[in-house]
Amino acid sequence: MVELLIRDANVVMEDGIFRGDVAVEDGKIIAIGKLDDTMKYEKVVDAGGFFLLPGGVDPHFHVRYPSHPERGTFESETKAAAAGGVTTIIEHPISLPPQYSKEILMARVQAAEEQCIVDIAFLGAAGGEKIEYIREVGEAGIVGYKTFLHAAPEGRDKEFVGLTMKDNYELYKSFQEFKQSGLPVSAHAEDNDLISGLIKESRAKGNTSGIDHAKTRPSITEVLAVERLIRFGKENKVPLYLVHISTPEAARVAKAARDAGQEIYIETCPHYLYLNEQALIEHNAYAKCNPPLRSAEEVAQLWEFIIDGTIDTIGSDHSPFTVEEKERKKEDIFVAPSGFPGVEFRFPLMMSAVKEGRITLLRMVELLSTNPSKIFGMYPKKGAIRIGSDADFALVDLDTPYVINHKDCLTHAKDIGMIYDGKQVYGKVLKTFVRGEMVYDMGEIKVEPGFGQWVKREKTE
Ligand SMILES: [Zn+2]
Repeated sequence: MVELLIRDANVVMEDGIFRGDVAVEDGKIIAIGKLDDTMKYEKVVDAGGFFLLPGGVDPHFHVRYPSHPERGTFESETKAAAAGGVTTIIEHPISLPPQYSKEILMARVQAAEEQCIVDIAFLGAAGGEKIEYIREVGEAGIVGYKTFLHAAPEGRDKEFVGLTMKDNYELYKSFQEFKQSGLPVSAHAEDNDLISGLIKESRAKGNTSGIDHAKTRPSITEVLAVERLIRFGKENKVPLYLVHISTPEAARVAKAARDAGQEIYIETCPHYLYLNEQALIEHNAYAKCNPPLRSAEEVAQLWEFIIDGTIDTIGSDHSPFTVEEKERKKEDIFVAPSGFPGVEFRFPLMMSAVKEGRITLLRMVELLSTNPSKIFGMYPKKGAIRIGSDADFALVDLDTPYVINHKDCLTHAKDIGMIYDGKQVYGKVLKTFVRGEMVYDMGEIKVEPGFGQWVKREKTE
């Protein structure tokens, strides 16, 4: 008896869409085709002709646990991931402390294995204060590094220990370590000196409302940092993964370096494609993220890089906070923490782009699942529907519109997630499967915490 048959789906494979069935044994895909009568199955799920996509691999996801449980836990945030069709998250270290050493990493892995609903991979923290650990954590099972080119935000120093590069000396030394490891380096690209100067100036003038967050981080702050990273990457032949690129100019600069032969990957997020800086006027701190939301014109240009293939991945940058944190010192936008929850909107927003004819379904799957898995060394185990891969799926309704309401979300931070409210989208996630097990079904979580597993980088030799 074979474990599971998902019958009559529009199966989205790497080279096309096939209407038929998928058979699963031991958590892996064993057959794809017209399989209904060929074998006996323990369990049959009728997909009713809906689209069966590879489960999402979210390359940019924050859980702070075991620190800050009030912002959510591995359990609450991976429930949100399951609801968002995401079957593997890549966790970015901003925690207490960030996982810059093997010991800290293993403590977080243990907490994750007790709580996760979906599978999880970790990035290791890399920064100037903890250069001596870069190689150690690199050999401990991470899928890449994460670093910031800016100082810790006000009042959050402890969450950023070993995660920031404050000057070129630290970058120089760290990149020599990265070179030894060969792992991709995810970098948050914003120029700290310029931003701190502009914030100081803005505060002195009393300009501290929502829109001033965008005004003090103009496009050039991202471009300068991207250029610096490219130079260090080139010098050391280190694969660069540029997280949440928000400006067309940064994408252009990165593309030019890639065309010249460098290994560079570009990520953006749905909020840089579906929102612009006007949201900061309407929602203030709730629309505050770094880099900031951009002008409508830049948003339109960024779409071109989604369409033409320049951008490799879409991450949610899911960042849970509390209402209290977002409301703190309301009159000063520079005080509230940056980021908002996004994992439950990533599939529907991008499915809407498919529905509207901006991108194909195959391109969407590349952006949301296959490319993140390839870049972080988890392919072909994750991110594709093919024989031998993990049976990770999202069953999605592409045709019935629905309206986003943050109150429907499963994230613990749903109360700060109202920026898309009222928007009509397509692509509701109906069911999510991880390694052949249905973890989410029409609003309900179907497995116990701890079902999710730790995913390491596949050996590439
Ligand atoms: Zn982030």
